[in-house]
Amino acid sequence: MNRPSRIKPLQESVVNKIAAGEIIVAPVNALKEMMENSIDAGSSSIDILVRDGGLKVLQITDNGSGINKEDLSILCERFTTSKLKSFDDLSSIQTYGFRGEALASISHIARVTVTTKVKEDACAWKVSYAAGKMLGEPKPAAGKDGTVILVENLFYNIHSRLRTLKSPNEEFAKILDCVGRYSINAAHVGFSCKKFGESHFALSVKGNSNSRDRIRSVFGRSVSINLVDLSLEVAELGLAARGQVSNLNFISKKAISPVLFINDRLVSCDPIRRALNQVYGSFLAKGNKPFIFLSIRIRPDWVDVNVHPTKREVRFLRDEEIVERLASQLEDTLSKVDTTRSFKTTS
Ligand code: ADP
Ligand code: MG
Repeated sequence: MNRPSRIKPLQESVVNKIAAGEIIVAPVNALKEMMENSIDAGSSSIDILVRDGGLKVLQITDNGSGINKEDLSILCERFTTSKLKSFDDLSSIQTYGFRGEALASISHIARVTVTTKVKEDACAWKVSYAAGKMLGEPKPAAGKDGTVILVENLFYNIHSRLRTLKSPNEEFAKILDCVGRYSINAAHVGFSCKKFGESHFALSVKGNSNSRDRIRSVFGRSVSINLVDLSLEVAELGLAARGQVSNLNFISKKAISPVLFINDRLVSCDPIRRALNQVYGSFLAKGNKPFIFLSIRIRPDWVDVNVHPTKREVRFLRDEEIVERLASQLEDTLSKVDTTRSFKTTS
């Protein structure tokens, strides 16, 4: 019998759109990828502009290395990267990016316009992209050293996604939260984030501010005046952690998920969160929630970074020992601040 085949390959454009929609679930995912690119490019200043929760406009301006004009033609093609050369490099990778997927994905579900200038060039170059391809040739433009990436009409071709997204204000809140968290860990980098048409910044962090000031800018004074330093080094585990966590005077019923970085990646890690919360549980009055900022370094070859871009849960070797050491260091630190407090109140 000669039946017509029912299984047919999807059109490439459909495949690309589906793949892009899996990596970029909401505007905040695009923002995070672009912010990481800016940090990878050695920027010390990152400015973000958002219109309609990032759906109309998401623009990020940095003062990093810029992109060579010659590289612009393949910038938004899939799996083109200046960062990773071989699979083995993955275990020692120092940059956020390595897959060369982010800009490509964004260009399949939005209009992307890049204006970029490297120091050696006299002028900037500007060009737009759609569906992975450069539209025309780069044109000379005015611009400072660094890169401006403008993303317009995100999800214009995925109507189902547009319908399921939260309100622009909620999408903006997610963006602001993400920028804020990154800004706490990225020492020497200044950040700003603003809604289109508003004159004030929703967030502004100076490049030279320390992590306490950064925490104040993002989470407010009630958090920043109630912090203690937490640090720990365990050579045999290749572990170094530093950060600030709330002391026992901090009163908050609102749970703030830990600001947790592992090897400079913003991650979530349930075992660490649970262990640290448990330690706080024995110090804080019932219902009170802590604030935790920790930047942890683990031997890069022990951390699995080859995870999907939208997955934040991290995995690493010797996790039980590492979590245990962090928890006991926190316990130590808190019991010390506790003594000084009761000492002060009784004297
Ligand atoms: P990846 O970061 O995984 O390499 P991306 O799609 O995010 O992939 O970016 C592709 C390439 O574009 C990067 O490797 C980098 O060379 C370049 N690039 C992207 N954004 C910037 C930027 N803001 N400044 C300088 N170069 C950039
Ligand atoms: Mg990237």
